[in-house]
Amino acid sequence: MEKYIYSFAEGKKEMKQLLGGKGANLAEMKRLGLPVPDGFTLTTTCCLAYYENGKVFPDTLGTTIAESLKTLEQQTHKGFRSLEAPLLISVRSGSVRSMPGMMDTILNIGLNGDTVKMLASQTGDKRFAYDCYRRLIQMFGNVVYSIPAEAFEIVLTHLKEQRGIQLDTELTGDDLHSLTIEYQHIFRQKTGRRFPQDPMQQLLLATQAVFNSWYNPRAITYRQLNNIDEHLGTAVTIQEMVFGNNGTDSGTGVCFTRNPSNGEKKLYGEFLLNAQGEDVVAGIRTPQPISDLAVTMPTIYAEFERCAALLEQHYQEMQDIEFTIDNGQLYFLQTRNGKRTASAAIQILMDFLAEGLLTKEEVVDKVTFDMMEQALHPSFSEEELAEHSPFAIGLPASPGAAVGRIYFSAEAAQLASENDEAVILVRQETSPEDITGMIVSEAIITSRGGMTSHAAVVARGMGTPCVAGCHDLIINAEKQTLTHPSGQLKEGDWLAVDGSSGKIYTHVFELTQTAITPAFEQLMVLLTDMSDIDVRANADTATDLQTALSFGATGVGLTRTEHMFFAPERLIEMRRLILADTATAREIPLNKLQHFQTSDFEELFRCANERPLTIRLLDPPYHEFLPHDISEKNALAKALSISKTQLDQRLSELQESNPMMGHRGIRLAMSYPEIYKMQVTAIINSALVLEDEGLTVIPEIMIPLVGSVTELKWMRHYLETAITELLVEKNSHLTYKIGTMIEIPRACLTAHEIADTADFFSFGTNDLTQLVYGFSRDDVAKFLPLYLEKGLLPHDPFQTIDIDGVGQLMKQAITLAKKAQPQLKIGVCGELGGDPESVAYFHSIGVDYVSCSPFRVPLAKLALAKASIEAETFIVI
Ligand code: ADP
Ligand code: MG
Ligand code: MG
Repeated sequence: MEKYIYSFAEGKKEMKQLLGGKGANLAEMKRLGLPVPDGFTLTTTCCLAYYENGKVFPDTLGTTIAESLKTLEQQTHKGFRSLEAPLLISVRSGSVRSMPGMMDTILNIGLNGDTVKMLASQTGDKRFAYDCYRRLIQMFGNVVYSIPAEAFEIVLTHLKEQRGIQLDTELTGDDLHSLTIEYQHIFRQKTGRRFPQDPMQQLLLATQAVFNSWYNPRAITYRQLNNIDEHLGTAVTIQEMVFGNNGTDSGTGVCFTRNPSNGEKKLYGEFLLNAQGEDVVAGIRTPQPISDLAVTMPTIYAEFERCAALLEQHYQEMQDIEFTIDNGQLYFLQTRNGKRTASAAIQILMDFLAEGLLTKEEVVDKVTFDMMEQALHPSFSEEELAEHSPFAIGLPASPGAAVGRIYFSAEAAQLASENDEAVILVRQETSPEDITGMIVSEAIITSRGGMTSHAAVVARGMGTPCVAGCHDLIINAEKQTLTHPSGQLKEGDWLAVDGSSGKIYTHVFELTQTAITPAFEQLMVLLTDMSDIDVRANADTATDLQTALSFGATGVGLTRTEHMFFAPERLIEMRRLILADTATAREIPLNKLQHFQTSDFEELFRCANERPLTIRLLDPPYHEFLPHDISEKNALAKALSISKTQLDQRLSELQESNPMMGHRGIRLAMSYPEIYKMQVTAIINSALVLEDEGLTVIPEIMIPLVGSVTELKWMRHYLETAITELLVEKNSHLTYKIGTMIEIPRACLTAHEIADTADFFSFGTNDLTQLVYGFSRDDVAKFLPLYLEKGLLPHDPFQTIDIDGVGQLMKQAITLAKKAQPQLKIGVCGELGGDPESVAYFHSIGVDYVSCSPFRVPLAKLALAKASIEAETFIVI
């Protein structure tokens, strides 16, 4: 017979699948010797059996629960139906993957008209006993019979008004007693039955309700959004109650072991004295920061600190802990890996490494690509921020910056986002029902709630900027207005949110890229350390290169020179060059362009500061530089003092049917070699300037679109003659390299021949993929989506390497080339150089470096570090 119940003593953290995260971790904490109230867990398989059985408990479950309860009674020296020492329990939901707040928990089960009296007289605290009872009736009514919580809360609020008090804790025992009587009326009114007095009946109904909550609408949506399998089911944990509402030396709280926004190593939490369960998160009273506990209850605080550190060490993860203090005794009620922002996660991992809690390999393993992308989230520039004062200030609940239009409900937010609007969700406070709206929002603002409120926790988890507890804002969801001393906004108005400072602005800022934290830099160093091949960047300007270097790129794998010709004063020269029909007519524009290029390259070499810099000579077909509409053509004809007919004629001569496979790259240079000569002269001259300054510069000159060794040989000879002439003239011994792109299938197949004439190879995966598949990059959008939809291709081969085709060809080319020239340096400079999966493949076939756009450098580094570690492990085995 299947075992459906495990006591805490039988469980452990590895049994999450069966016991849910909560049950497994409670058992684990017990094993570690932490103070945890006793209990047992009904398995997820029990939940599944319940559903299979048509929502009826498996036959033997009643008996097994009774047996487990008996053991619990013995452990606690209390009795479930006992009047002398009544055992009160909680019935807690707990799924395999955390679904915070999506399912239900009921506290204080076991109380009834008799036991509540006993509890009052035993503790001498009527207020406490009836506080527990009124909570039970409300939670039970709400969870088991779906009575809205407001039905009870209205009565409570009314009573407080009558008494002229603000806080629940100010109610007397008699107040609460009368409240429980009213609550029972409400219960009867809404359900047509009495509030169940039999503890066992309470327990069974509660358990069933928790099982049922697996399919409540919120839980279903949450699972869909987070890709959680519905066949996992939920576990139910039944646990002895401890009481945070047991007077002023009792309390309840939540705490992260480190700061979940920035990762700082400092306990980060909140607690409330004389409170129970969710009071802290529900914002009933303003909670106190955990540091206050060090003052009010120093011994407990020290114990908490010790246990928190122990948990962190044990799980090797930052923990999110729920605790309760009952009459000066500390209890742990839950621990799980805490949700944190990406930059916090990176800070924590680097700290764990320094603390010796994790090895380098473990850190690399725990860094995810998502984390990396999130850590590079945009922000507002400091200068711009300084120029505007905030509209309102709240808590910096989740960092990052966003601008968008404000919406006051999840539905409105969703609608607006479907219309491609950037949305900011504005709520008094969020609840799990708002999740769909939160997901589509660029940022979230709440006027209530603290750093651990629902909005804050969920936003940090999603990496969405959030400002919480912005008390100055009056949010009227019905009227869709947001009022503030300095003005009023309505639905659709723009706001800018800075979740890192907690400030909100009416000015619509531009987003700029995030500043890199020291921990992020350390991580980049670690990744470089751990990977056995280099990451270079594709950079056409010094600014790009600077960004890439700040991410730890080891050089430039691709500088595209064509982008340098698009500034107006250069474009005109380029056009003059293209439209010239004699070599003499080409001379003037070539000289001008050479002048521009020399200063471009000088700047790049200076910025690269002795790191390798690969410059590709002109690649695209000519017509990319020519005007297309009539007014532009007219202006050009005028500027060049030629007739429109002459211009049109030249343009039609340059027209190609298939420019991607046409007169471009080395082929164009065969017709007009002086263009490459000009570029090479500029490269060498600029290198010489830096050499004079004392730098060692070894230019890497790269020739695109080579298909046969004969082409390369001719061009190499031609360029070398020019360079030698130049060096002799300048009396310099500058070294340089001439290499080639490998992007034509024929070049791959004859790589051994080409290798003899090239100093380096660089695969151009965009063109190679285009030519291997025969997919025109310019037209692929017409049919590729269909291929993906029909499952004919696993993914877009321009985004992730096609291992079986393009990848095989690359592998073959590398083998051929290295056989001919073992020292040949081989890189990849196409778009795929920044795609983690592709990069891992390139690593496996033995490339020496990959090159990608600056912002993908960190991703490529991570992919390589992971791949290097994996390769190493493989060898050891
Ligand atoms: P959730 O999954 O929504 O976090 P929990 O099962 O953790 O729900 O219950 C919510 C809160 O109820 C806990 O944080 C804790 O404060 C309180 N609680 C649950 N079980 C007990 C218990 N045995 N004794 C005291 N408080 C409890
Ligand atoms: Mg909890
Ligand atoms: Mg190319």
